[in-house]
Amino acid sequence: MQDETVVGNGTSGQTNTPPPKIIIAGAPCSGKGTQCEYIKSEYGVFHLSTGDMLRAEVAAGTPLGIQAKKYMDNGQLIPDELIINIVKAKVTAPEVQARGWLLDGFPRTAAQAKALQDAGIHADLFLQLNVPDQILVERVTGRRTDEATGRTYHTVFDPPPPEVASRCIQRSDDTEEKIKTRLNAYHQAINAIEDLYQHVRTQVDGNRKKEHVTHDIKSAIERVIQLNKQKRQQ
Ligand code: AMP
Repeated sequence: MQDETVVGNGTSGQTNTPPPKIIIAGAPCSGKGTQCEYIKSEYGVFHLSTGDMLRAEVAAGTPLGIQAKKYMDNGQLIPDELIINIVKAKVTAPEVQARGWLLDGFPRTAAQAKALQDAGIHADLFLQLNVPDQILVERVTGRRTDEATGRTYHTVFDPPPPEVASRCIQRSDDTEEKIKTRLNAYHQAINAIEDLYQHVRTQVDGNRKKEHVTHDIKSAIERVIQLNKQKRQQ
């Protein structure tokens, strides 16, 4: 999967504490990408983003990418059987188990959540980033992605610098029509899986300055690390 480099201080690797295992859910443009960058650099976990992985497959023109593209272009989920085994293999890889993981964009259906459970893959924390739909539509339609770095900008709130602007593109699923379909898909996904994660769920208001969002996320992760430490000591 793309973006698995371990960077930052790798806090969890400094002790014998089991590393955090986190699922993050957030609608398109909820700020999830920014917060994932923070979590990855602060805690050294593997970031496993199914959206990034699938976009890389599409760009490389692999058989999976060719199949996935028609769903992705329409803002629809790709079929469970195309994604479940890939994610299970990634999460259970020894280096990922050792570092801890941040699963981003998965699970999105009850079948995907059940597949994780059946494989004994349990998260310590289910982070849910909440932002009202109408704000998300504004954010998504102005979003531009730098193809070279993956960094995102906003035409109004965070325009790309001139030297980068020419290589920024609008993702094919970032139009108003498609964002509405993707938001429906997101709400359906949350409805399908939230009950399974209620015992580890932290909801975060994502409609605030990113520093405040990060602060709440940090508190939730620190709590999990403390709990894991206590369990290890018992
Ligand atoms: P994202 O960047 O997470 O919004 O994902 C972009 C697109 O990739 C989604 O709209 C889906 O078409 C596809 N996708 C990503 N993750 C999944 C998943 N867990 N199940 C099915 N489709 C997915």
